[in-house]
Amino acid sequence: MVSAVIFTLVVLAAIGHFAHTLYGRLRLLMAARPVDRFDRIPDRLMATLVYAFGQKKFVVGEQPAGWLHFFIFWGFIILGVQVVTMFGRAYSDHFYIPGLSPRVLGGPVMLLRDVMEVVVFVCVVVALYRWIVSHPPRLFGFRPAEERLTKQSHAEAKIILLFIMTIVIGGLVYDGGRLVYMAGDPAIEAGRMWEPLSGLVGRFLSSAFGVGGAKFASDTAWWTHNLIILAFLNLLPRSKHFHVITGIPNVFFKKTEPAGALDKMDLENSERFGTSQIDQFTWKQVLDMFSCTECGRCSAQCPATASGKPLAPRQLLLNLRDYLYEHPEQMLAKGDGGGVAKENIVGTVVADDVLWSCTTCRACEEACPVLIEYVDKIVDMRRHLVQEEARFPTELTRTFKGMETQGNPWGLSAEKRMDWADAAGLEVPLLANNPNAEYLYYVGCAGAFDDRNKKTTASFARLLLKAGLNFAVLGPEEPCNGETARRLGNEYLYQSMAQMAVDLLNGYNVKKIIVNCPHCFNTMKNEFPQFGGNYEVIHAADLLSDLIKRGKIQLKEERRHTNVTYHDSCYYGRYNGVYETPREILQRLPGMRLNEMERSRNKAMCCGAGGGWMWMEEPRDKRVNLLRVQQALETNPDMIAVSCPFCTTMFIDGLKAKEADEKVQLVNIVELVEQRAKF
Ligand code: SF4
Ligand code: SF4
Repeated sequence: MVSAVIFTLVVLAAIGHFAHTLYGRLRLLMAARPVDRFDRIPDRLMATLVYAFGQKKFVVGEQPAGWLHFFIFWGFIILGVQVVTMFGRAYSDHFYIPGLSPRVLGGPVMLLRDVMEVVVFVCVVVALYRWIVSHPPRLFGFRPAEERLTKQSHAEAKIILLFIMTIVIGGLVYDGGRLVYMAGDPAIEAGRMWEPLSGLVGRFLSSAFGVGGAKFASDTAWWTHNLIILAFLNLLPRSKHFHVITGIPNVFFKKTEPAGALDKMDLENSERFGTSQIDQFTWKQVLDMFSCTECGRCSAQCPATASGKPLAPRQLLLNLRDYLYEHPEQMLAKGDGGGVAKENIVGTVVADDVLWSCTTCRACEEACPVLIEYVDKIVDMRRHLVQEEARFPTELTRTFKGMETQGNPWGLSAEKRMDWADAAGLEVPLLANNPNAEYLYYVGCAGAFDDRNKKTTASFARLLLKAGLNFAVLGPEEPCNGETARRLGNEYLYQSMAQMAVDLLNGYNVKKIIVNCPHCFNTMKNEFPQFGGNYEVIHAADLLSDLIKRGKIQLKEERRHTNVTYHDSCYYGRYNGVYETPREILQRLPGMRLNEMERSRNKAMCCGAGGGWMWMEEPRDKRVNLLRVQQALETNPDMIAVSCPFCTTMFIDGLKAKEADEKVQLVNIVELVEQRAKF
């Protein structure tokens, strides 16, 4: 009775303290900027099933860490029954959750609990080994961008693991002791066969300490288990283990719009143009900050981190989270702050260099087990830099000027948009002359202005002409879609360019658009609907694959074998899930032997050109393309195949820098199909 009273007081104090801390966190969330994440409930429930309860990213990710987390997660869910039962035993030795006594349905649950206690124990031992002995860099931080993290003691992670270990050992000793000192009790006997592992512990306690010792051990385990649970509960909101509470909601509230569609700013009614203060993040972005497990899977995949730039996505998010916790008053202050000075965090908490280092490749988001979103946050802060501060790398002045004055980042005259056809001696129909063409071939600026990529454009047009497709191009009328401007944060410029492009396309009543550039593909497919442009956007690989299958393009025999590796472009791959079609084409081409890079498909590393980097200068010792080219060279290829004009440029530069351009050929798969086509 005394024990029950003391326990009740301890529980009330612990839960009260926990509720108070949680309320503080909740207030921050409620004060953040609104965003609608309550739509498409069936999609959200499915994502929760797959990513939260199915632990998909852990199971398909790096091992053994992934399976360790899977078992610890499920162990905790199952051990939740044990926690409630052990708390209830403060008031009755025969307390069971209704329906879960061994005489009803409790037997199998008890067996599962028994097994999971041991499984979790083993997982925790392995996890402690990783923290104390093997030291995987992912856990301790990547230099130089995560220098701060590398200097931390990481004591919290070890303490939490010791807590978990104590909880599962406590459960086994508690139940093992009961099997000894309550032997003969009908409820205990009904459950005995379902607790084989606790039974083993009980036999050990009985033989080592006798019945009295077993009872003492069981009682001590009960107190220890329950007090650690309460301490754990209170540690959660103050640590990275807050994800235990926020991780599942974070998955549920994931972005359900296409990953490649950035948020459209309301330029007419906005008072600010980008994110620069902590209270300007949305509640979902704040939930992201709460939910980070600090696992480092994002930083491990980030090309900026790998190439030695100052950006590591984990560190960026942790800096924001720490700032939020240290300055809650800035989030809670309403409107202009009512006396609370709201600091500009861009340039201080998140340095300009960090923001400009991002290639928007989405490798971080793809890797994150709790589906934290990065690109939107980074672009939101770039929007502030560009639109409110006019602070951006000097090289971009020319890029923006080219887009503003000539309508394209190359800054070349629209009259040059058909030079590729003239040079190749091709008669390509213009949409103005063939308004009923079934397809519009949207060439894109890289395909029209970049000398190397003009060859791919001509190659693709020849294939389309020979396959007898009813298509046309816009020629000098073709507008840039502005994708680069949007990724660079120049939303105003993007919106005006996108709207002009949509108006032109709608004026021609265009329905089907073929593109040979993943960046054009992504923005026209996923972002143009924001401007009233709804088209069937078909990428070159899909179209060519279809033409080959239908026999419109026939392939020559080829006896020579060519080792080829395929580099996935971020904007076809991770943004739009186009992984298999380019590979299917390569495998259909006679003589091709496809060897995959270690990082391929959704784990592929960026070529380094995305997010506006096509127009920025990388320091010579921090070039992403050199890392990626090295990964390709490790497959010992005769040829590297790409499907993006930006990747073409980056790989050609990289192969030259590595003096491998004589030995290894760089081709766009479109050119490869033309080389092997029989007309
Ligand atoms: S989008 Fe790519 S470059 Fe940017 S933070 Fe994520 S992984 Fe790094
Ligand atoms: S953002 Fe995601 S992947 Fe990165 S450390 Fe946090 S939980 Fe891990």
